[in-house]
Amino acid sequence: MIYDLIIIGMGPAGMNAAIYAKRNGLNVLMLEKNMPGGMLNYISEIDNYLGFSSISGSDLAMKFYEHIKSLDIPFKLKEVIEIIDEKETKRIITKDEEYICKNIIIATGRKSKLLGLPNEKELIGKGISFCALCDGMFFKGKTVAVIGGGNSALEEALHLAKLCEKVYLIHRREEFRADIEPQEKVNEKENIQVILNTEIKAINEENNRLKSLTLSNNEELEVSGLFIYIGYEPNINLIKKLVETDRKEYIIVDEKFKTSCDGIYAIGDIIKKDCYQIVTAISEGAIAAINISDEV
Ligand code: NAP
Repeated sequence: MIYDLIIIGMGPAGMNAAIYAKRNGLNVLMLEKNMPGGMLNYISEIDNYLGFSSISGSDLAMKFYEHIKSLDIPFKLKEVIEIIDEKETKRIITKDEEYICKNIIIATGRKSKLLGLPNEKELIGKGISFCALCDGMFFKGKTVAVIGGGNSALEEALHLAKLCEKVYLIHRREEFRADIEPQEKVNEKENIQVILNTEIKAINEENNRLKSLTLSNNEELEVSGLFIYIGYEPNINLIKKLVETDRKEYIIVDEKFKTSCDGIYAIGDIIKKDCYQIVTAISEGAIAAINISDEV
């Protein structure tokens, strides 16, 4: 069978593209290697998505997923390992199956950036985390640090402050880049201590667990947990050879979300753009799918 469209990635962008593709009569399939919802599953609280004054990312992801299932939109939980451009059609290869389609939407999103310190990777799951929602409970009543100055760092620090005795919020500059509202909430929280103009110089361990952080001013901070929120990088490996990207490897698209390769579209956090929001990802899904249905 030749699909009209295969969507790779079941985050908000990919799932909404599938809804619009199905509505417009396309023969569509979605492929996802992990959990439907993508990065949404790691967000503690969302308060800027219309219709929900406060909802956890995982609950919103579940609502999107239930919507997909209610419309009988086909999907498979399979990791794509290669995409071959055969011009008129594309061949998508997973470990045990191959699919052929006329169009692809890449919606594989981004992954968390690391600090690049020596024992950082080894201590993931042993004190270091990228998900306050998933791991926060392990640090109940303890002292943790959050690093970063964007919306993610501040919002997740606020979530941790509800569980932990103390939260250090460490940022390398004088000013946060987060929105004003989370900044005001952080200022009101007595158990969040903001440390500005500071970086983490070393991560110290004891018995194979995080013990403390050495800061750029040489101060040593005893913490049980370190939550890293210093931004993201695109999940580009699968498609890197086929499409044009910018210097940071975000895919360059036109106003219809077409990439430089005919028949390949990209939407959501993997594209070069100014605004990385759930609502923008979702609208990109709709626009790309409508444009594909006009052309098939
Ligand atoms: P971000 O906005 O890219 O912020 C990353 C932060 O990490 C910056 O403050 C940056 O410092 C710092 N940083 C980067 N590399 C570092 C390093 N090596 N060491 C120490 N600090 C480092 O990332 P984000 O907060 O995850 O947000 C990503 C996007 O999602 C943004 O567009 C954001 O608005 C959006 N978002 C929106 C919401 C919401 O609307 N509720 C929630 C979460 C995220 P500098 O400031 O010095 O560069």
